Amino acid sequence: MKTVAVTRVGNLRAEDADERGLIGLADFPAQPLGPEDVRIRVAYAGICGSDPHVAEGYFGTEVPIGLGHEISGVVEALGERAHRTGLGVGDRVAGNFLRFCGTCLPCRDGRQQFCEFIQEYNRPGMAETVTWHESQVYRLPDDVSLRQGALLEPVSVAVRIADKTRLRVGDRVVVCGGGPIGQLALQVLKLHGATSLTMIEPIAERREMALRGGADHVIDPLAEDQGARAEEITGGRGFDVVIDASGSTRAVPGLLDLAAHGATVIYGAMYPADYELPLNLSSFLYLKELTLTGVFVSPYAFPRAVQLLPHLRLDDFTRAVYDLDDAVAAFAEHLSGRHPKVLIRCNDIPDGS
Ligand SMILES: [Zn+2]
Ligand SMILES: [Zn+2]
Repeated sequence: MKTVAVTRVGNLRAEDADERGLIGLADFPAQPLGPEDVRIRVAYAGICGSDPHVAEGYFGTEVPIGLGHEISGVVEALGERAHRTGLGVGDRVAGNFLRFCGTCLPCRDGRQQFCEFIQEYNRPGMAETVTWHESQVYRLPDDVSLRQGALLEPVSVAVRIADKTRLRVGDRVVVCGGGPIGQLALQVLKLHGATSLTMIEPIAERREMALRGGADHVIDPLAEDQGARAEEITGGRGFDVVIDASGSTRAVPGLLDLAAHGATVIYGAMYPADYELPLNLSSFLYLKELTLTGVFVSPYAFPRAVQLLPHLRLDDFTRAVYDLDDAVAAFAEHLSGRHPKVLIRCNDIPDGS
């Protein structure tokens, strides 16, 4: 089955063509349809900011490495016992690329993100079809298109970030990094009652997008004094919630200075495996009592992400679309940063939008 994959491990941006990571189409074996499984004919699969990390061998180096964990599509077949979610053939769906088994100790302890069998059903969705366990699959609301539906997984990450903020209505919030997760987190926190909502982002188009998405303020960290702007916006008290969605090791050290006393700071991106953040324990944990946390995956967030989809502004995320055979061009477009999201059309399925 035709699947977009990393065919050579390496940095996709490497100058030297011999060292550069490569994306291509590979032929993967068809996935078995187990009794509780759902086979989805994939409509759209989004390219994720983590895909270049996968290409660098972050999760393994044996090629080909199949890609695609942000998908929408139509149910093509159901296993004989796949009836607990009420899905039927032809339903428009999206889902969680991870299956939480429900049986291991972390799953039974309310911590699905640490499921010991989390990779068992992690199958690449940038393909003609993908087969997942029924517990991974969600029916899309009627007023959400298949293109928009492909955003369900990143929206679930934004919901998880919101959960971890423990935001109180009216809290002051700053988001660093206007990529897809930063923009979606900003929109979700706006709905959640965030105030003085600020986006820190060096690219002008992304700052404009944040303003369309509900930001009250934007800061260009390259042209402005970020600390002075934050003081002005918060009356010198700092932000109650600070979110990093940039993953940038240049951006993260300065974020602690923006946090108010008692604030929660969320490192909501992927970081280089060898990066260590300098942290003054006296200033930030003793005197300021900050809570520092991160987000690995998004357990318990999908049902609410489905509810939120029709209420989010997703136009900016659904404009760049490439066919499966043009996956190489799609990744080049992703790396250019011109679009917050690049979608791959895996099958031509009529869509509402
Ligand atoms: Zn992703
Ligand atoms: Zn489990």
